[in-house]
Amino acid sequence: MAGGGDKVDYVFKVVLIGDSAVGKSQILARFARNEFSLDSKATIGVEFQTRTLVIEHKSVKAQIWDTAGQERYRAVTSAYYRGALGALLVYDITKRQSFDHIPRWLEELRGHADKNIVIMLVGNKSDLEEERAVSTEDAKEFAEKENLFFLETSALQATNVENAFQTVLTEIFKIHS
Ligand code: GDP
Ligand code: MG
Repeated sequence: MAGGGDKVDYVFKVVLIGDSAVGKSQILARFARNEFSLDSKATIGVEFQTRTLVIEHKSVKAQIWDTAGQERYRAVTSAYYRGALGALLVYDITKRQSFDHIPRWLEELRGHADKNIVIMLVGNKSDLEEERAVSTEDAKEFAEKENLFFLETSALQATNVENAFQTVLTEIFKIHS
């Protein structure tokens, strides 16, 4: 494209991981396009979406990768993790099992990714408080023990989605700029 308004200073790859149906694709849709769908089909095709933001006067292109339905244990390939500088490790606050699987995802992530990778633990679907199966305290404790950032989000209500990505990208910026 012509013109000087589209200069990108940095491109940061961030991956979304976690069990199927926790809301990864909707978190990405909310962040990249400010969209949400209640009947989203299992993710197909598209490998990543981008959004460019300004961090400390620099133009940063976030390249966010979403799993294409490979959430079975160990089915995510190493190409997915390659070059990732950040990760959102997502569970569903209404599905205990999705939280119980987080240590596995973390182990897999740490086995494949950059050793300085910035990781945010994300408890999604915070709008479903009446169905909550994972307490905020349990998640916070786990995050502290494992040195992860932690937020509860709602892709549906657009709560903390921006905050989650901003935090991860700003932290990556501090490390890599
Ligand atoms: P993925 O398999 O992790 O990519 O999960 P999806 O993004 O496809 O979401 C799975 C289902 O959860 C879909 O029906 C979404 O509409 C729904 N969902 C995603 N995020 C939220 C949320 O924040 N709140 C509620 N109530 N539903 C959500
Ligand atoms: Mg998906």
